[in-house]
Amino acid sequence: MTISWPNGHRAAAAFTFDVDAESCVLAHDPAASSRMSLMTHQAYGPRVGVPRLLRLLERRGVTATFFVPGFTADTYPDMVRQIRDAGHEIAHHGYLHEPMQGISAEAEAEYIDRGLEALDRLGVRPVGYRAPWWEMNWHSADLLIERGFHYDSSLLDGDVPYRFSGELGQGDLVEIPVDWTLDDWEQYAFYPGWTGSGVIESPAKVHEMWLLEAQAHHAEGGCFVLTNHPFISGRPSKAAALERLIGDVCELDGMWVATLGEIAAHTAATVGEVRRIRRVECPEGYFDRPATPKATASAQ
Ligand SMILES: [Zn+2]
Repeated sequence: MTISWPNGHRAAAAFTFDVDAESCVLAHDPAASSRMSLMTHQAYGPRVGVPRLLRLLERRGVTATFFVPGFTADTYPDMVRQIRDAGHEIAHHGYLHEPMQGISAEAEAEYIDRGLEALDRLGVRPVGYRAPWWEMNWHSADLLIERGFHYDSSLLDGDVPYRFSGELGQGDLVEIPVDWTLDDWEQYAFYPGWTGSGVIESPAKVHEMWLLEAQAHHAEGGCFVLTNHPFISGRPSKAAALERLIGDVCELDGMWVATLGEIAAHTAATVGEVRRIRRVECPEGYFDRPATPKATASAQ
């Protein structure tokens, strides 16, 4: 699958920031609010990381997309206004960064609406959505289409944006796919008793790895989408490496550096095909067969 990029560009790149702050920790364990140090680790994002990243983006002349959970917007409204006033795109990322796996459409609709209401209190009507934890459900697209969203950026089955229909067939969304390779969480996130492998990688290594991805996307006419979290990549050496990367990506000949909203609008205007994402199920009763012991199979 290929896509034509606007104005003779040969590939696209987007820098995105998920401003989770405390929300992802509280969604994981509401009692985590009693852990003062952990809370400050998350608050670093809005307090220090976002201002640093805004300065960095301004220096590089790049407009980015910030996914802001509603709870973050309610807790740090001035920070969200700073992002908006700097001309960046603000998009939806749940209300409390809720766990999405296996939830009902009704529960998910409530989370989306709460997130919309919180952003609306700041005068923001997002057209883009990114599921917390990149965890989309088969019913999610219909909920987003009903609410007038233009795009999602949480799925992982492509190198370029595409259009896909909801299960109800009542419209379509643009998908701008992501990749765990291009997420700072996997490279740097560590907090005892909360997350991470215990290995905090060198920003020099991360810069090299992400630049290789950008160069490969550039060579193939793809769409490089980088996901960073201000409480992680807003720290000095990581932000400095990110700034070098942004400079390097901007210098790739014919690279269109844009917001996800701009990429989605271009995709909707130029791609005619609307995919139906194939839902693959385990063959019915597969593990009930005598020749396939369930305990062995499920232990893999
Ligand atoms: Zn997130």
